[in-house]
Amino acid sequence: MSHPPAEIIEIFSAIQGEGPILGRRQIFLRFGRCDVTCSYCDTPLCHVELPAARIERTPGRRDFVRVANPIGLEALIEAVIRLDEPRGLHHSVSLTGGEPLLHAEAIAAIAPALRARGLRLYLETSGHLVAELDRVLDLVDIVGMDIKIASATGFPARHDDNRRFLARCRDAGREVFCKVVIGEDVTDAELDAALAVVAEVAPETPFVIQPLTPFAGRGRPPAPERLIELDERARRRLPQVLVIPQTHKMINQL
Ligand code: SF4
Repeated sequence: MSHPPAEIIEIFSAIQGEGPILGRRQIFLRFGRCDVTCSYCDTPLCHVELPAARIERTPGRRDFVRVANPIGLEALIEAVIRLDEPRGLHHSVSLTGGEPLLHAEAIAAIAPALRARGLRLYLETSGHLVAELDRVLDLVDIVGMDIKIASATGFPARHDDNRRFLARCRDAGREVFCKVVIGEDVTDAELDAALAVVAEVAPETPFVIQPLTPFAGRGRPPAPERLIELDERARRRLPQVLVIPQTHKMINQL
């Protein structure tokens, strides 16, 4: 069966700076396009048409070459496997974006070859494209799903979709964590609504509060005292709460 090529922003090896697996070395496969517009988005290239992707040739060396988009799936597999040297260097491949689930068919097509190589697949997603998740859920090892809240993103939350999405991960027995980016304007009710998604569907799921990192002068994180309040509020509702900022930006990783 033939599959459509995929629009890619970049492929490179770096250190994961978000969520419970931060500090792990990963190969990042950053897909183009996104179906939402978070006000704090640090990947503006996901909202424009990209004539070419940049692909690292040696893991972590930033020796990028440009490759015309869209990229055929064989070439995509080859680019990832080329970075997987020496074998065992990487914890997993981060399927990220943009919104990687807009490329569910491409992910389903490349996943078997990557898994056959022994690479684990880590899906980083907004956590609302349920039908697309169904297409790839059996092929990924870890799911990091965002629960978006309006005060940070600038658009309405989709908690019903978040619930269905998390339930799919739970029912499939997939390793999953939830992440909420929180800015200075977050309300208690908003946090409670995000907590309720996890509490009602899979309460043992790690729940990461990620203080918003300003990008291009947009957005601010909560004040330190407010962050402590939010952490305590979350811990009263869920057993596994973590407060983790974006650490890759502190150490100039991509
Ligand atoms: S989901 Fe991610 S890539 Fe898409 S707009 Fe939000 S921050 Fe940017």
